[in-house]
Amino acid sequence: MSKLRFDVVQDAFKKKAILVDAPTERPSKYFGELVFNRDKMRRYLDVATYNDLIDCIDNGHPLPRTTADKVAEGMKTWAMEHHVTHVTHWFQPLTEGTAEKHDAFMEYDQKGGMIEQFDGKSLSQQEPDASSFPSGGIRATFEARGYTAWDPTSPVFIQDDTLCIPTVFISYTGEALDYKTPLKKSLKAVSDAAVQVCRLFDPKVKKVFAYLGWEQEYFLVDEDLYAARPDLMLTGRTLMGHESSKNQQLDDHYFGAIPSRVMEFMKEVEIEGYRHGIPLKTRHNEVAPNQFELAPIYGEANLSNDQNQMIMNLMQQIARKHGFVLLLHEKPFAGINGSGKHNNWSLGTDTGTLLLAPGKDAMGNLQFVTFFVNVLVAVQKHNALLKASIATATNAHRLGANEAPPAIISSFLGHTMTNVLRKLLEVPSDTPIEIAGKRGKSVGLVEIPEIFIDNTDRNRTSPFAFTGNRFEFRAVGSSANCAGAMTTLNAAVAEQLTAFKAAVDKEMAAGKQMNIAVMDVLKPLIASIIDTVCFDGNGYTDEWKEEAKRRGLDTETCVPLMFDEFTKPATIKMFEQTGVFTRPELEARNEVKWETYTKKVQIEARVMGRMAINHIIPAAFAYKSRLLGILTQQKTIYPDPKDYAAMAATETELLEKITRLIEDIRTKCDAMVEARKAANKIDDEREKALAYYDIAESLFAIRRPIDKLEEVVDNDLWPLPKYRELLFIN
Ligand code: ADP
Ligand code: MG
Repeated sequence: MSKLRFDVVQDAFKKKAILVDAPTERPSKYFGELVFNRDKMRRYLDVATYNDLIDCIDNGHPLPRTTADKVAEGMKTWAMEHHVTHVTHWFQPLTEGTAEKHDAFMEYDQKGGMIEQFDGKSLSQQEPDASSFPSGGIRATFEARGYTAWDPTSPVFIQDDTLCIPTVFISYTGEALDYKTPLKKSLKAVSDAAVQVCRLFDPKVKKVFAYLGWEQEYFLVDEDLYAARPDLMLTGRTLMGHESSKNQQLDDHYFGAIPSRVMEFMKEVEIEGYRHGIPLKTRHNEVAPNQFELAPIYGEANLSNDQNQMIMNLMQQIARKHGFVLLLHEKPFAGINGSGKHNNWSLGTDTGTLLLAPGKDAMGNLQFVTFFVNVLVAVQKHNALLKASIATATNAHRLGANEAPPAIISSFLGHTMTNVLRKLLEVPSDTPIEIAGKRGKSVGLVEIPEIFIDNTDRNRTSPFAFTGNRFEFRAVGSSANCAGAMTTLNAAVAEQLTAFKAAVDKEMAAGKQMNIAVMDVLKPLIASIIDTVCFDGNGYTDEWKEEAKRRGLDTETCVPLMFDEFTKPATIKMFEQTGVFTRPELEARNEVKWETYTKKVQIEARVMGRMAINHIIPAAFAYKSRLLGILTQQKTIYPDPKDYAAMAATETELLEKITRLIEDIRTKCDAMVEARKAANKIDDEREKALAYYDIAESLFAIRRPIDKLEEVVDNDLWPLPKYRELLFIN
């Protein structure tokens, strides 16, 4: 083993857990201590300011400038008690992750000294020099102005010595340049549309919330092993590496005992998460070795998404303290599971009703079925778009691999709901939908079993599974901003609910009773989805791909082509009608998507080329030279060609194999460089991304001979930590 790799592996293996100094208080005591939440607002603001701010948060009323000044003053006082010296607008540009530019509170006091200052203007709005953020050409570099504006619905928090203010990021001319702006618009759209439908059942409903509960999967790799892998460092995934003899076959990692170094990391993440007001709930080992998961209690989608962004940052920082690097890439290792971020999504009213869970009585159940069916209709209509909303260069490696949702969006309902829907198609429209067991006589009723809430009917192969009181959008990538998927889903559902309400109104205007009107509109919708987007079978099979095509579901697997969905007429109509995106915004965002795709693949291709030439081929040469040495020695000892041939057979065969593999790698790398040169000359972002799609595919072909070399080259000479080391040391 090369000295370097040997030492690194030894050192990594010997590392011990770094024990966390846990607070002596209970978590519920320090929960949210770094967040300017309602409790802090009450303590640090006067009554009038507090009331104005709450009115702004809850009802969207604008905050007068003078009030903003008072809010800023209160925040500053609180922050300085936590030794905060800086403030930043914290936003989510179209790159991955969050962006921040820190400004010190420090100002001249005009009396020859210095003073800490923070006012309403700096709280409400900033103008970062934003020319380097992707905008898809909306904001040409010469007029670089972009604005960040405070989102009062997401609480301000402290990170280290900095007060972080969650903001939206928009261009000078008002177009969204971030994830948060459209998410917020979609939340309003789905609330407005859902309220109209809810009022058929309960006139008291004023607002509907979209809830999000994310499940964040990730890998941990020892930082020294990571540092010895240029591909992990620069692309977040291994571009090469033969699979380990043992990987996840034994299923012994899933829910297994958490290794102690990892456990300490998790503890610290939880402590920091709680301090930042993130209600973390679940932690466990995932299926692949060194893969783990973290999930909070669900919450309002905008806040929950901010918390996901926050925790991704925190986890990355805390991992380093424990000698790990945290991988959020969707497919860091070939041959074992990749990482997703399941987005559990539901709708609920301000009166406390979860709209995707069975109700208390027949009417409640009808409301549930109404929302359930309309969501599925939206998912069916926009299935290609929903897939596009989770498509990225990195998630592409995970989708359709044999452990993740296929590149086809369908929905698993489970026996119970499938039966309920089928039954509804058969019975008269005024048939009550009852929870079984609540009534003595069940003849003629459509029943939802009482055990439904705890129904554990599951299907891991479904990208959009119903799980009792919510849908679980499982196709979202682990590194993604949830807002991409959530915005699309909210908007699609809003569009459908509006259409549904209009149809019901029409039936009622014709004199039908509400429940009959609702059922009459629902029936053809149920018929249209039940054998189309609804699919309870195994999504991993090839038969499903054929079947899905027959059902008219989108089966495109090329990511740059998936993005075309965003500018198709039905999409533009849906997003414009719901007020979520304008056509120019959609077009600009697609430019960004194609460009990002291209750049990601370009970086991978470069890294692949250099590692092949600088790491792999030299290692193969070194082994070749050893073999040649042996052969030369054998020639002197066995001068008779017959003896020599017998003695040197294995060495010669190996030598030839290695030479062939080296040749194969070199030819393919050369071809890839040429393909890149040609692709780089293309101006059109879409065409360029398509050219890079072919290059991405060619990386697999280069990888194959490299992985074969790893199998035959002397272990001592192999320069890169192997899968068995990366995945089994923790
Ligand atoms: P699973 O068994 O699916 O892995 P987890 O417990 O890991 O479940 O995560 C489930 C996630 O779904 C949690 O974040 C949980 O809070 C969230 N969740 C539960 N009910 C709802 C709901 N009605 N709406 C949105 N999210 C929900
Ligand atoms: Mg889950």
